[in-house]
Amino acid sequence: MATYFEQLKARLAQVSDLQRAAAVLEWDQQVNMPHGGSNARARQLATLHELAHTLFVAEVTGDWLEHAAAEVAAMSPDSNEACLVRVTRRDYDRLRRVPGSLVAERAQVTAEAFQAWEQARAESRFAMFAPHLQRVLDVTSRSAEALGYEDCIYDALLDQFEPEMRTKDVTGIFAELRNGLVRLVRAISDHGRPIDDSVLSRRFPEAAQWDFGLTVLEDMGFDTACGRQDRSAHPFTTSFSPHDVRITTRINPNQLHSGLFSTVHEGGHALYDQGISMELDRTPLCDGASFSLHESQSRLWENIVARSHCFWTHYLPRLTEYFPQQLADQTVDSFYRAINRVEPSLIRVEADEVTYNLHIFLRFELEQELLEGRLKVSELPEAWNAKMESYLGILPGDDATGVLQDVHWSSGSFGYFPSYALGNLLAVQFYNQALQDMPELPDQIAQGYLHPLRAWLRDHIHIHGKKMMPDQLVRQVTGQPLSAAPFLTYLETKYAEIYGL
Ligand code: ZN
Repeated sequence: MATYFEQLKARLAQVSDLQRAAAVLEWDQQVNMPHGGSNARARQLATLHELAHTLFVAEVTGDWLEHAAAEVAAMSPDSNEACLVRVTRRDYDRLRRVPGSLVAERAQVTAEAFQAWEQARAESRFAMFAPHLQRVLDVTSRSAEALGYEDCIYDALLDQFEPEMRTKDVTGIFAELRNGLVRLVRAISDHGRPIDDSVLSRRFPEAAQWDFGLTVLEDMGFDTACGRQDRSAHPFTTSFSPHDVRITTRINPNQLHSGLFSTVHEGGHALYDQGISMELDRTPLCDGASFSLHESQSRLWENIVARSHCFWTHYLPRLTEYFPQQLADQTVDSFYRAINRVEPSLIRVEADEVTYNLHIFLRFELEQELLEGRLKVSELPEAWNAKMESYLGILPGDDATGVLQDVHWSSGSFGYFPSYALGNLLAVQFYNQALQDMPELPDQIAQGYLHPLRAWLRDHIHIHGKKMMPDQLVRQVTGQPLSAAPFLTYLETKYAEIYGL
C-alpha cells in the first residue's frame, strides 16, 4: 500500500502535468497560434488551470499532506521529501484561502483586461483601459485580502513572487539604491564623455543575427536537445520539464542589441530551468526559488557577462565574421562603449543597466498607492508622468510609451515589478561570489569559455530548484543577505571607467 507521502506526490505530479500542459498552450499562443484561436484558447487554459487548482486545494490533498508530514518528520530538513512537504504546505495554506469563485472571476476579468490593454495600447488611449484596470484592481484587492497579510496589502501580493519578503524590506533596499543611482545618472549626464552607439542601428540581416545568437546560447551551455528557441513579440522563457525548456527572442534588423541581449537574457533563464535536478520534476519544487532569483540568472548573463569587455574580446571577432561590413570600423573598446551607453529612456524593457531600476521604483510606488486607495485609476497617467519626470527627467509623448507600456497590470500581476530590480542586485552578488571561487573567470570568458560559470551556477543555485526559501539560498551561496551595496559598487566602477568620471 502506498504511503501518504507517495499519494501526495502522485497528486502533485498530476497538478504539475496540468500546469505544464497549460504552459504548452500558452507558449503556442504566443509563438504559433493564429489570432482566431484566442477565444478557444482562453477557455482551454481556464479549464486546465481550474482543474489544477481544484486538485491541489482538495480536502484529500490536505489530509495526505498532514500524514505525509508525520512520515517525513525524521528525515533531514534538506531532503527532497521534507522540502516538498514544507513548500507544499505553504502553497496549500495560501491557495486554500482564495475561493474558487474568485479564481474564476480573476481569470475572466484579466482575460478581458488583456484584450482591452492590447487595443488601448495600439490606440494609445488609457481611457479605454481604465474601467478594466479598475476591475482588475478590485479583484486583486479581494484576492490579497483573502490571502491575508500583517503590515500592508502589498505584502500579500509581493509574497506570490518573493516568498517571505515584506514591502518594508523592499522599501529599505530601494531607498539605498535610489540615492546611489540618482547620483550616478547625474554624474554621467554632467561629466561623462559622450558615447556614439550608432553602430547598433546599422542594418544587420535577421538570419545572421539569429545564427550568431544560437552560437552564444550553445557556448553558454543551453542544451538544444532539451530546449529550443523561437520568435515572439515579447521574449519569454517557459519550462515543460528540465528536459524541455523553451525560449523566444525578437530580432530587429536595425537594432543589433535588441535581439542579441534578449537571446542571452532568456538563455540565462533557460539555464536555470534546465539545471534543476530531475529528481524534482513533476513537483512544486521544480521551479526557481523566487522571481528575483530567476531574474538574477538572466541579468547575470545579459549584463554582467554579455555587456562586459572580456566577453567582447572573444565575441567581437566572431560577430564580425557574420557582419564584416557593418562592424569593420569597430574595436572591442568602441563596441563595448556602444552597448553600454546610458541614457534615460521611456521604455523599461529597453533601459540600460544604470537607469533600469528607476523604472521599477516608479511602478512599485504607483502600485502601492493604487492598492491603498491613495491614487485613483483615472489619476494614473498624470501620476505616471510626474514620476517619470522626477526619476528620469523625461516625459512620455503618449500613453502607449507611458502608462500603457507594460502587460503586467492587465494580467493582475501587481507585486511583480520589484523582482526585476532585486534580480539585478542578486546577479552581482552571485557573480562576485563566483569570481571569488574562480578568479580565472574573466580570462575564461575572454576566451569564450563560458561553461565553468554555467557549472558553478548550476551547482550552487539551479540544482536546488525551489527547495530553499530565497533568503536562505542567497545566504548559503554568498554568505550575505540580499543587498544593494555590491550592485552600486559594480555600476560605479564599470561606468566611471566607461564615461571617464
Ligand atoms: Zn527575465
